[in-house]
Amino acid sequence: MIQERNTAIFSGADHYLSRDNHFFSFSARHAPALTVLPGDVIHVQTWDCYRGAITNSENALATIPDNEINPATGPIFITGAEPGDTLLVTILDIKTGARGVARTYPDNGQLHHLIEKQYARFFDVHDGVVTMNEKVSFPATPMLGVIGVAPESGEISTLPAGKHGGNLDNNMNGIGATIYLPVKHPGALLSMGDMHASMGDGEICGTGIEIAGDVLIRVELLKAKGTEFPVTENASSWMTHGVANEDIPAAMQIACEEAAGLLVKEWGFTIEDAFIFLSVQGNLGLAQAVHPSTGTVIAKMTVPKIQACPSPFSVA
Ligand code: CA
Ligand code: ZN
Repeated sequence: MIQERNTAIFSGADHYLSRDNHFFSFSARHAPALTVLPGDVIHVQTWDCYRGAITNSENALATIPDNEINPATGPIFITGAEPGDTLLVTILDIKTGARGVARTYPDNGQLHHLIEKQYARFFDVHDGVVTMNEKVSFPATPMLGVIGVAPESGEISTLPAGKHGGNLDNNMNGIGATIYLPVKHPGALLSMGDMHASMGDGEICGTGIEIAGDVLIRVELLKAKGTEFPVTENASSWMTHGVANEDIPAAMQIACEEAAGLLVKEWGFTIEDAFIFLSVQGNLGLAQAVHPSTGTVIAKMTVPKIQACPSPFSVA
């Protein structure tokens, strides 16, 4: 069933892309579903990470093949984007659905050895408040787990993260954030999904509050600028990402190197002062580290916006 545009969700977008247009991988081989111009505002509808397959307690622990997890809506072709450019995606708004789910997986996550049975919890989301049970409710902080562009070569599943973005699971990738993605192919080929109504640093059980919804984005281009991995900027800080396979220290080192690289290249720090500044003002943390599961772990280095480094790129 084709999902019709609902202008009651967001008015004023230049384009709409329904979740019927989705892939479970990032690849330059996927034909664009939509073509836009820099500066355009796009309403993107996304599935939850299970493509709607988990709906109630009967199927809450269903086994879903890896190649049917994390549908990403796209790809969106941005006219004028060329390899070597940086694509800026600003998340103007996110509207989640009314019901999400979090669950455990066998042998997955920091507390897996303490639980006696596999478990799922449904959450209601209304008027910006998440309700877990009679006792526990908290503000929704919606975000996108998956956002990325076509990788330099081959096809990368929407499960790992990488230089192309992908399953970055950074809870700062929410309303108001701008995500800088290194463009490797003409048009960039942007896709996104895996919305969470809330997700903590580390995502320790392996899921956030997995939920479908609608995203309003604006895309822009920065010509000939680049980092190896994506960068996120919000009102008070900017942060670099580091990704490595099952290696938290390696991921942390990459996030630090990326941040130091921007301080040196864009803001004229010496490498020694960048090292010291990141130690005294930067916050090194984990976006996702579902130890001991296999797969990529994602570190982030958060740099405060001060006069000496008010954005990741000096001309942004
Ligand atoms: Ca995710
Ligand atoms: Zn997710």
